[in-house]
Amino acid sequence: ASGYSLLRDPQYNKGLAFTEKERDAHYLRGLLPPTVTSQTLQEKQWINNIRQYQVPLQKYMAMMELQETNERLFYKLLVENVEELLPVVYTPTVGEACQKYGSIFKRPQGLYISLKEKGKVLEVLKNWPERSIQVIVVTDGERILGLGDLGCQGMGIPVGKLALYTALGGVRPSACLPITIDVGTNNEKLLNDEFYIGLRQKRATGQEYSELLQEFMTAVKQNYGEKVLVQFEDFANHNAFELLAKYGTTHLVFNDDIQGTASVVLAGVVAALKLIGGNLCDHTFLFLGAGEAGTGIAELIALEISKQTKKPIEETRKKIWLVDSKGLIVSSRKDSLQHFKKPWAHEHDPVDSLLNAVKVIKPTVLIGSSGVGKQFTKEVIEAVTSINDKPLIMALSNPTSQSECTAEEAYHWSEGRAIFASGSPFDPVEYKGKVYYSGQANNAYIFPGFGLGLVISGAIRVHDDMLLAASEALAKQVSEENYKKGLTYPPFSDIRKISANIAADVAAKAYELGLATRLPRPQNLVKYAESCMYSPVYRNYR
Ligand code: NAP
Ligand code: MN
Repeated sequence: ASGYSLLRDPQYNKGLAFTEKERDAHYLRGLLPPTVTSQTLQEKQWINNIRQYQVPLQKYMAMMELQETNERLFYKLLVENVEELLPVVYTPTVGEACQKYGSIFKRPQGLYISLKEKGKVLEVLKNWPERSIQVIVVTDGERILGLGDLGCQGMGIPVGKLALYTALGGVRPSACLPITIDVGTNNEKLLNDEFYIGLRQKRATGQEYSELLQEFMTAVKQNYGEKVLVQFEDFANHNAFELLAKYGTTHLVFNDDIQGTASVVLAGVVAALKLIGGNLCDHTFLFLGAGEAGTGIAELIALEISKQTKKPIEETRKKIWLVDSKGLIVSSRKDSLQHFKKPWAHEHDPVDSLLNAVKVIKPTVLIGSSGVGKQFTKEVIEAVTSINDKPLIMALSNPTSQSECTAEEAYHWSEGRAIFASGSPFDPVEYKGKVYYSGQANNAYIFPGFGLGLVISGAIRVHDDMLLAASEALAKQVSEENYKKGLTYPPFSDIRKISANIAADVAAKAYELGLATRLPRPQNLVKYAESCMYSPVYRNYR
């Protein structure tokens, strides 16, 4: 290839870091100014530039520009400044980017499959330049973060999520494929926006919807084989549960909103046992919110207790209670409940509010997964504190404004007794001369390592035991030093090491279950996982 096109190929471009020899060998003379710099210096320049932008969306666009011009530098920057840049390339900034997607993008990213492509999905897949794909993240845009239906503009989510698969989990960028399925949108504002990029129609549902998804899933397996991971992302909950159940037995599928959340929260609960005492089976759980997150977490906790106690899951579910928008889920409501809530409809009199539910259920662990802020009121936290020496409180709803309570509220209202973790990050809190640290139950702890574990073992199905293995692997990474601060998650700066450990344990489980196809099994799976991880350091071109 010519030097000119080399500079325009994001996979190979190094900008001013091309060496003298490379400039000679690859027809780059004259196309670059004389200076030869290092990747480290380029990194310094970019992070300085990004820090100068005051508006988060500008930082996001700068990062996307870098991803499209110099991929290795993009990933190096992201890996080395992960805590600073994660909120830029992913939530919360990616949400704003999706809302404005139509007007900010110069070049399309990822693959769009709309109702117009019905009957031609396999051909569409073949238009993508890479043949060997390991991870697909796909959305239909119906429930983007907490922002609702963004239709075709949801594409920012698969793009961002896959950037994390590479940066945090070490999956090669060329093996990642972001896909948006466009079946229309019910978002009136977008439908009336002259710059909207998607199909201008109401969402297709029922048979029309499931036929397109069926064609897509079949085409994916036909084109990329059985080992390609399909991660469903930000589907509305009715479709999310259905797709997972439907394709879980025939494809390698994973839903981060349900399963990834469950795994990361279980890890936090298991780690917190060191601080609050007891075994998992000794605790009583109360959830506010019974959707993808809430019921997903509840089910994985019940499964773990069932494994530990050898009791049937129907029984272990009974220590877990959920409240939805209509109050405590109880058996008298069974007829009108969505099917994913039915396992949680235990025998009990109706209870109308969270506060009353706390009073009658007497939970030791309180988990917020409602998407609605300020629901853990002073009364609620005082009530749960009056029942427990050290209550575990997890306020998972995002973004920060929707958190069920703040870290400050949790520590103050519990008089410093709560162990607190949240979905959105909170700064340490000082209360009566002591500093309290809280963990962030970020899905990014789990899914990159989980996916890497599937990829390196050549797994062909996801099994719930793999989710439990991932939780356990994450909980094990919390050190004594972290516990002393009250943290129930390890520092995010160690994420590459954490991901390698999760990958190893997930892979080990895949081999144990006979679901791995990459044989023979490597001896040391942590070392093997590390050796498979993509490094963004520049290569020398001979
Ligand atoms: P979802 O499927 O829409 O479920 C929301 C649930 O909350 C539903 O059961 C809903 O009740 C209930 N709810 C809504 N308003 C309520 C109220 N005022 N009182 C009681 N219950 C109420 O949403 P999701 O995907 O589970 O996400 C929920 C939240 O979890 C979001 O804020 C999300 O950001 C957060 N989340 C956090 C993490 C993390 O921390 N790692 C991961 C995933 C999700 P009905 O069923 O009656 O409508
Ligand atoms: Mn999501």
